[in-house]
Amino acid sequence: MIEYNKLIFELSIEDRIGYSLPDTKFNNYNISDLDEVFLRVDNPDLPEVSELDVLRHFTNISNKNFGVENGFYPLGSCTMKYNPKINEEIANSRNFKRLHPLQPIFTTQGAFKVYYDLQKILSEISGLSEFSLNPYAGAHGELIGLMIIKKYHESRGDFHKNKIIIPDSAHGTNPASVVVCGMEVIEIESNERGRVDVDFLKETVSNRDDIAGMMLTNPNTLGMFEDDICKISKLIHEAGGLMYNDGANLNALLGKVRPGDMGFDVMHINLHKTFSTPHGGGGPGSGPVGVTEELSDFLPNPRVKKMDDNFYVENSDEAIGQISSFYGNYLVSLRALIYLLTLGKENIKYVGRYATLNANYIKNALKTVYELPISGNCMHEVVFNGLINKENDVKTLDIAKRLLDYGMHAPTIYFPLLFSQAIMIEPTETESLQTLDEFINIMHKIAIEAKETPDKLKDAPTRTPIRRTDEVFAAKQMIFSYKDYLNYIDKRDN
Ligand SMILES: *Cc1c(COP(=O)(O)O)cnc(C)c1O
Repeated sequence: MIEYNKLIFELSIEDRIGYSLPDTKFNNYNISDLDEVFLRVDNPDLPEVSELDVLRHFTNISNKNFGVENGFYPLGSCTMKYNPKINEEIANSRNFKRLHPLQPIFTTQGAFKVYYDLQKILSEISGLSEFSLNPYAGAHGELIGLMIIKKYHESRGDFHKNKIIIPDSAHGTNPASVVVCGMEVIEIESNERGRVDVDFLKETVSNRDDIAGMMLTNPNTLGMFEDDICKISKLIHEAGGLMYNDGANLNALLGKVRPGDMGFDVMHINLHKTFSTPHGGGGPGSGPVGVTEELSDFLPNPRVKKMDDNFYVENSDEAIGQISSFYGNYLVSLRALIYLLTLGKENIKYVGRYATLNANYIKNALKTVYELPISGNCMHEVVFNGLINKENDVKTLDIAKRLLDYGMHAPTIYFPLLFSQAIMIEPTETESLQTLDEFINIMHKIAIEAKETPDKLKDAPTRTPIRRTDEVFAAKQMIFSYKDYLNYIDKRDN
């Protein structure tokens, strides 16, 4: 077998040409018209490779990638579900793609219908009155939602309200967004049921008038439903705060429960997790923000509206401002709309049911060998705390790496931060019983290996293109260019 581990720069052969531009077409451009300061002195330092070299190189790299189309991908809090190909096909159609946001609006009414209809369906699903599709990601949505909360308090003269309560199980983006928004975090501990302790919350907000609100994920990041949610919302509202729902992973609730009915005033939804956009590697994303009617004036500009059968764009002076170049990630919105219309109202409720059933199936099948720190039914994901049998010093990292040898993606590990050996598994509703059983079998096999042949785990992975990476080095001393790489190799070998 040929090893294709070379960098494209290492395939370079002097004077090899990949593609030549026809001379005649470019004769009219006179480079000497450009000011000298803009001209290169040397040729760019690019690899000299043929078209076929390039094609093989990138095709072989892509084959080393692992995605939901290669195998099971139970990455908790990320919702790596299968996204039906029909959504991709439609989003790829030139009728949708060949549009420009600066076209006169009467020529793009169809695109605005996509935005508008999706806004309305998200309102219906969430029980909130208005949505903006402008934010580009979940964390972006969080920031926008918090800016709305801030603006709401300021509009009432409550400039001192700048504290946001966040449980310790929350996604790391939550406290980060609060700080970026210029507010402060009050962190509260989860109780032994993995949920918000209502009495402790009561104590925390009592005699304070600086509570701006609370950010809550429900089901929370331990996969548990906050069953005291109505009490929690009431406490925060009585303290003069607003309730923010981190709805990045909406799978478990779809068609069953609405965040608006739980007392949430603001929320974001990750279209790229719950509503069918393949994600990973940083994009593309979309984090629509929804609000109650009372807050709708603060939504960012521009807003997509409808009058009679016409769609138009509106800007408001009350808005927190403009937060994206146009209206948000159009093709991600389009995929979400197709996904929702394909399922329809009747079928959407099965998403949450199957996501929950699958997670509980795994939970019950693994709880005899993996430590379950929180008992009781979970929602769409389940968190273990390493193996019950801790002999041989086998860590969660070893288990995750061994899974790669069995051809499966590892779950999320060491998150949430509440347990030292956290393994967070989210199977999603799109996996079959056979796939779940296969995963369960492998996890049991790994538990036996941990006891009998622990080196198999400590040496893993052995069947991937590279073995264990030095994650600290990779984070501390990043290598971004081929030159840096050569310098690094040079230093390492001398
Ligand atoms: C993924 C996620 C986010 C952040 O979303 P991004 O699109 O990655 O910015 C926030 N909260 C929760 C619970 C998430 O799972």
